[in-house]
Amino acid sequence: MAVAGETQPDIIVVGAGILGISTAFSLQQKGHSVLVLDRKGPAAEASRGNAGAFAFSEIIPLATPGMMRKAPGWLLDPLGPLSIPPRYAMNIAPWMLRFWMACRPERVEESINAQIELMAHSKHALLPFLKKTGTGSMLRRDGNLQVYESRAEFEATLPYWDAREKCAIPFEHVHGSYAISEYQPGLDERFVSATFTPEWYSISDPLEYVLTIAEVFRNRGGRIEVAEVVDLSPSLDGVNVDCVGGQSFNAAKVIICAGAWSHKLARKLGDRIPLETERGYNTTLPTAEFDLRTQITFGGHGFVISKLSTGIRVGGAVELGGLTAPPNYRRADALLAKAKLFLPDLDTEGGTQWMGFRPSLPDTLPVIGPSKQTNDVVYAFGHGHLGLTQAAGTASLVTELVDGEKPSINLQPFRANRF
Ligand SMILES: Cc1cc2nc3c(=O)[nH]c(=O)nc-3n(C[C@H](O)[C@H](O)[C@H](O)COP(=O)(O)OP(=O)(O)OC[C@H]3O[C@@H](n4cnc5c(N)ncnc54)[C@H](O)[C@@H]3O)c2cc1C
Repeated sequence: MAVAGETQPDIIVVGAGILGISTAFSLQQKGHSVLVLDRKGPAAEASRGNAGAFAFSEIIPLATPGMMRKAPGWLLDPLGPLSIPPRYAMNIAPWMLRFWMACRPERVEESINAQIELMAHSKHALLPFLKKTGTGSMLRRDGNLQVYESRAEFEATLPYWDAREKCAIPFEHVHGSYAISEYQPGLDERFVSATFTPEWYSISDPLEYVLTIAEVFRNRGGRIEVAEVVDLSPSLDGVNVDCVGGQSFNAAKVIICAGAWSHKLARKLGDRIPLETERGYNTTLPTAEFDLRTQITFGGHGFVISKLSTGIRVGGAVELGGLTAPPNYRRADALLAKAKLFLPDLDTEGGTQWMGFRPSLPDTLPVIGPSKQTNDVVYAFGHGHLGLTQAAGTASLVTELVDGEKPSINLQPFRANRF
């Protein structure tokens, strides 16, 4: 039962990652009393250690014919950008089949169109959100430099840059190591071309960002409790939420933002959502001296280097290995070794390694919308590589749904029952 003396909230948000905390804050702004439940507390999982990018230009889904061409080569290298541990191969097969189906040109176009809308909305939502949460000083506008080792690698990306040009995303292609060094000195000369995206922003530290929003939410009367939700059921007056240890709550609406674990809660309401995790790795280096002027994306190697207030973070990779296997930090070692090769002056000693669970759906789109069983449960999860980028936008969409307003964008492509 809820603790005696504490009023029942209007709304319960399950999960205190960036999606849950942003959504709780946005609902609170609209006058709702909100309780956040997380089994570990704020920023315990993926939202803690990500690369910190607001990657608004990333409108191209991972599921593309180009990815299907690259994947077999990547899979041959056990420490390469993409891996499937053999023990998990059978488990991931149905998701892979859906991913493969999402690579059909008409599906790719649908995903791009949906991402264009969600990205534009998320970009529009970000600055007011930073202002309201008092986190504006954490924003960096350093852009992103995507680098290519060959003309062929660069040319293969051109159709996707054309798609970005059509929706007025600014970028600039540069060729030759001298021109590249104007954006980032010290890169190895193997990189012959690059694309700079100026409106790719970042946050000075993703962990501090979530913790600060959580603090602001609490200071304004919001509650965050450590509790693991095990069951959900519609009731006459909303939704019952049961937790480990017998604690239970009731609220008019429940929002599920439980990251890579969300599908387990959706199953309790009969929604079968093919959520998997793309495990990612990184190392945060304490080095403060290195002159990193922009985030750098090594697309052919599946990792990025970001400058944070806490150091330099080298991370990426996709390991389709499920939620329970221990981390394989040789993956983080492999990314760091490549970073040293590509930026020889980077001091790669003394770093801290981390692994996080990206919550991912096969078509690269999140789920934003109600359960098929009841409109009183709203899902907001599955943002994959883009959860930080799309959190403020998703939070405002969920708030519109809860308040019975017309959502700012068409949410059909994000519905829970699309699979
Ligand atoms: C290496 C790496 C780099 C990344 N870089 C970027 C980037 O630069 N930009 C970007 O936009 N995105 C990036 N991402 C993706 C981003 O981190 C995620 O999309 C985002 O953090 C997901 O947020 P979330 O709130 O949905 O999930 P999470 O942060 O995982 O939070 C889910 C929360 O739910 C809680 N929970 C789960 N089950 C229950 C339960 N039953 N009861 C109670 N609580 C529960 C968990 O404890 C957790 O706190 C990156 C990810 C990785 C791994």
